[in-house]
This record gives sequence, C-alpha cells and structure tokens, in this order.
Amino acid sequence: MANLLWLQGGACSGNTMSFLNAEEPTAVDLVTDFGVNILWHPSLGLELGIDLQTMLWECLLGKKTLDILVFEGTVIQAPNGTGEWNRFADRPMKDWLSDLAHVANFVVAVGDCACWGGIPAMAPNPTDSIGLQYLRRQEGGFLGKDFRSKSGLPVINIPGCPSHPDWITQILVAIAPPGRVPNATGRIGDIILDDLHRPQTFFNTFTQTGCTRNIHFAYKASTTEFGQRKGCLFYDIGCRGPMTHSSCNRILWNRVSSKTRAGVPCLGCTEPEFPFYDLKPGTVFKTQTVMGVPKDLPTGVNKKDYAVLTMAAKDSMPDWAEEDFFTI
Ligand code: SF4
Repeated sequence: MANLLWLQGGACSGNTMSFLNAEEPTAVDLVTDFGVNILWHPSLGLELGIDLQTMLWECLLGKKTLDILVFEGTVIQAPNGTGEWNRFADRPMKDWLSDLAHVANFVVAVGDCACWGGIPAMAPNPTDSIGLQYLRRQEGGFLGKDFRSKSGLPVINIPGCPSHPDWITQILVAIAPPGRVPNATGRIGDIILDDLHRPQTFFNTFTQTGCTRNIHFAYKASTTEFGQRKGCLFYDIGCRGPMTHSSCNRILWNRVSSKTRAGVPCLGCTEPEFPFYDLKPGTVFKTQTVMGVPKDLPTGVNKKDYAVLTMAAKDSMPDWAEEDFFTI
C-alpha cells in the first residue's frame, strides 16, 4: 500500500471536487484497485475517523511512511511570515507542509494555487501567498528551487483551475507503487516532467489540439458569442487555446466536452501567468489587441507572420467555414 496524505492550504476546494469526479480511474479505484491508502483528505478525513494531529506527527517521526503528499491551494505565509491565518492542527499549515515535504517520497501540487500561487497571489497579495515551488513563472516558491522529495523529483505540478480529474488520479497511479523512483533521466514509468515540472504526457500539447473549432481558427472565422457551435473564440473573445499547454481537448471533461467545445474561451489556467492581466476589468473574455493585432499570439508565431497568415486566411475563407457543422 502507498500512503497518501492530501492537505489543503488557501483553497476553494475546486481540486478536491475535481478529484472526486475522476473517472479513469476514480478516487475509489485508487483505494480498491491501485493500493493507495488515503491517510487523510479534507473531504474524506472526518469520515475516516482519524486523529489528524497524531497521524501527522507519526508521518514526521517516521512511524508512518509518507509515500505521496498532495497539496491543494496556495501556501499562505502572512501575516509577517507566521502563516497564522491558516492555523491547522495546532501549527500553521505552512510549517506542516515544510516538514512533511521533506519526509515524503513524492510531493504533488494540484491546481494553480499550489503550483504557482494562483489567484490569491495576485497583486497586492496581502496573504503573501506562494506556490510550492514557483511564484507564477519564477522558480523557487515556498520549498525553494533546489527542493527534491525523497524520490529525487521536484514537486510534480498538475496545474489547472481546477486540474482535470483524470490528470490527478492517473499521476497518482503512476507514482503509487511503493519504492518507485525515477531513473537517471528523471522518468518514472511514463512520467517525464517539462521545464515547469508538469507531466509532459498531459501538457506537451495545446488546448487547441483536438479543438473542434480548428477549421474556424484556420480561416479566421470568428464568433463573438458564448455557446455558439461555430466560429473560433480566439479572435474576439480571448481564447488562449493556441498558447496554453493542456490536454483538455484530448482527454475530455466528464468524457464528454471541454470549454472550447461548449463555446467558452480557454482562459489559459494551466499556465503560471494565470490569471492573465490579473483579471483587470475588460481583460477577461476579450481579446487584447494593439492596432488590431492580438497582444498574445499563438505560441511560436510572430506578429509579421500572423498578419500575413490571417490576411490570407480571411481572403480564402470558404462559405462553409462560417457554418455550424453540428446542426444535424
Ligand atoms: S476556440 Fe480556442 S482552442 Fe479552439 S480553435 Fe479557436 S483558439 Fe483554438
């Protein structure tokens, strides 16, 4: 059995809700089929009837092996470095986190707040919130740039607001077998981390990969309304699908859909800069432009090439590119 402890910092519980909705595998499958022993989880812990404080000390003192430490939510350091606002089991949560991370075989950050600081870390950041190993894109975070768990890996980041349920459970399955350690290339089974410590298997493609609107994107056929089944959401209502690393259109949500398939722009929530433009009025669901050219272009495309491409696309757009293909 692999012992898993799930703790929560400054969080809305969105990643817990996501985790409990996982389908392949489910949270229950982790326990029944994959040998995961949940020591504590904020939504399940009370039902497990556990004396949390005793159990945490047992992990720290080595009486219980801590195979996987999952952290959800931002690390609250304020006020004045005490973390007092987040007092938990008689110590500030940040102190438990710091100590437990050093005895855990694997440390997993789920959701943007745990990975990068998230919305609580937006300016002016009164709670001095920070991610486990990053603050936005800046490496370091609460545990420091050089932190490695006992397995030798840095914090495994599974970002998203929230993370996709199956990203969470599939990574837990991959690291659950006791004694599993990465090889010389940092690879554990099929897990390879990217330069932001995200598992490449879920984050090496873009949200746009697999989006049903790609043909509309290619011909610059835009939509300006939510919920429409035709048109691309990039040109007017701020879709970040072409520059966001995620597999939301490859591994569908609830096995059925995604934001862009449902007609809602991707907000780029798996990237460290989320929330982009600090959610300033007029920046959400609106493409930011300078002289008519989007400020944020598809990854790898420069302004000049974008201008040439979109001009040609618009000129050559066939009538059907503006049709709704899904009416029948
Ligand atoms: S809706 Fe977004 S993800 Fe889909 S094709 Fe347009 S820009 Fe790309």
